[in-house]
Amino acid sequence: MKLRIFELPPIGTNAYLLIDEEEGNAALFDAPYGASDEVDRQLERFNAKLEGVWLTHGHWDHILDVHRFNAKDVPVWAHEADSFLIQHPESMMDYMIPGIQLHPGKIDRFAEEGSVLTILGHEVEVRHVPGHSQGSVAYVFGNGGFVISGDVVFAGSVGRTDLPGCDHETLMRSIRTQILTLDDSFVIYPGHGPRTTVAHERALNPFLQGFGRYGTR
Ligand SMILES: [Zn+2]
Repeated sequence: MKLRIFELPPIGTNAYLLIDEEEGNAALFDAPYGASDEVDRQLERFNAKLEGVWLTHGHWDHILDVHRFNAKDVPVWAHEADSFLIQHPESMMDYMIPGIQLHPGKIDRFAEEGSVLTILGHEVEVRHVPGHSQGSVAYVFGNGGFVISGDVVFAGSVGRTDLPGCDHETLMRSIRTQILTLDDSFVIYPGHGPRTTVAHERALNPFLQGFGRYGTR
């Protein structure tokens, strides 16, 4: 399996494309502006079909291309609690870069806490991680040893909580109970910036000190 990472405008938002070359399938995580064109190029190159788009949350910079995948009848998944943001991106106007073309997105299926999805033949656990947004989710590839976590935790930082629908205490609880409970070896692919690991963030992230080995404190 191949992983392609696109860091897309206007504020450097990561989209992750998993490609199974043998089966000719692909799966996209988050749909920033420009994701659709990047994905098309990769699908053509690997002669693959896009199985679906899985959104980590509904903030504008992660969803600007959702309408383009809707138009191609690619199923889009997100947590129900962020569906309003995706259907009404204009509601985020106050904290958006001005002049951006907005198109409402449509969610086809809800990603629910604790559900186990099959994505490209892999079991993927959905973990609800509210705090940065009410409907943030992390997609945990247990066998692959990695998590696509959106804007919950970054290398050396955590998601901002100064926007509507955010709550810092809730975010910290999500990180403690849903991210730091993963094995140290798990690779974290965040919504912005470089990848990291659970061990690295547990040990060095200044926001996460004092949580203890298993994140129980
Ligand atoms: Zn966000």
